[in-house]
Amino acid sequence: MNILVLNCGSSSLKFQIIQTDLEAIKNDQDKMLAKGYIERIGSQAIITLQATGHPPLRTAEPIRDHKSALQYVLKWITNPETKIEGITDLTDIHAIGHRIVHGAEKLKKSVLIDENVIDQIEDCIPLAPLHNPPNLKGVYAAREVFPGIPQVAVFDTAFHSTMPEENYLYAIPYQLYRRFKIRKYGFHGTSHRYIAYRYRKIKGIEREQVNIITLHLGNGCSACAIKNGFSLDTSMGMTPLEGLVMGTRSGDIDPAIVEFLIHNEGSSVDEVFNILNKRSGLLGISGLTNDMRDLLEEEREHQDRRASLAINIFCNRVKKYIGAYLAELNGTDAICFTGGIGENSPEVRRRCLSNLDFFGIKLDDELNEKAVGVKEMKISAPDSKIEVYVIATNEELLIARDTLRVVLNVPRIW
Ligand code: ADP
Repeated sequence: MNILVLNCGSSSLKFQIIQTDLEAIKNDQDKMLAKGYIERIGSQAIITLQATGHPPLRTAEPIRDHKSALQYVLKWITNPETKIEGITDLTDIHAIGHRIVHGAEKLKKSVLIDENVIDQIEDCIPLAPLHNPPNLKGVYAAREVFPGIPQVAVFDTAFHSTMPEENYLYAIPYQLYRRFKIRKYGFHGTSHRYIAYRYRKIKGIEREQVNIITLHLGNGCSACAIKNGFSLDTSMGMTPLEGLVMGTRSGDIDPAIVEFLIHNEGSSVDEVFNILNKRSGLLGISGLTNDMRDLLEEEREHQDRRASLAINIFCNRVKKYIGAYLAELNGTDAICFTGGIGENSPEVRRRCLSNLDFFGIKLDDELNEKAVGVKEMKISAPDSKIEVYVIATNEELLIARDTLRVVLNVPRIW
């Protein structure tokens, strides 16, 4: 089955076309046939498209909205000159899988999209006002551009739906949970699930034997404590603002800071949340950039003090969560790094795991240095009590596989 995987942001559309079936899943032989990224939708859009085995195509064109973006993609896919293996017209796309950020408490697994599901995703908008509306734009656009093709929603929150009450409730009046469903939901679930699945494959074990800590460190960052194959706890909360330090998000802060800023700076609530979401994290501390690679370079080349400070605060927060999860899990078998930073920065991994010998965590420095842009690799020393891995995430692949299973109505093991 050829599956179009869509990930729509407020002004962007990312897609992949993945060929998969049950046999391919079993043998890990799914194929990515094409991928693309359209950014700055709503103005002069920047478009990158690539059929596997061909050079990427980069262009800029005005694109009005998500529907026009999808029509652009469709035209490219079906253009005979594009030459995507096995695809000549629309009927060669068999299903569409959408990344949907928030499924709240009702949408706990991937589902076929119908009117009822759309209503439920809309109901989640107050919990994810920045994410669910653009995700839904993708769904509406796909229903118009690809009529009659089954569409499946895969939720970022779903993997964390197994968290126990002790971990998902905040210590605020219980009525607020009852009335507004204020609780921790967690995000990046598809990524944490994928890492757990790859770890199971690497070790040749059953799902119930997977006891690991996963660290997704990208622009957004989150940690997850996985016990017996299920999410026990995670660092993002009711929204993706909680937890680790991120590119532009603060992660954990004292909530009283919000009130302080409103009273002392005369900021509005919206301004404060703009600060916490868009002007904090690595960018806020360094005053330079939200990009970890650039900060590392500033530190290396110019000994920039605030670049160092930003990196160290980032790594220290990761370390604190590792400590918390080691306690919650009563130890762990492995720590797995993923995401742009986790997959590419030996220096950040080294700092996150420094001085953890008390727990028996020891990196192999040479392997750590080598593990840049690899698919998966063990980087701990042979005598490390806890193994450490770098595993490249692949959320699109899981979305494609979930879509296939939902369309075929076969149970999903993971
Ligand atoms: P997103 O969360 O938007 O998907 P990514 O997972 O691609 O983002 O992660 C982006 C982050 O990864 C950026 O901070 C970028 O600087 C960082 N990154 C990418 N390559 C490297 C590298 N070689 N060294 C350090 N950081 C890197």
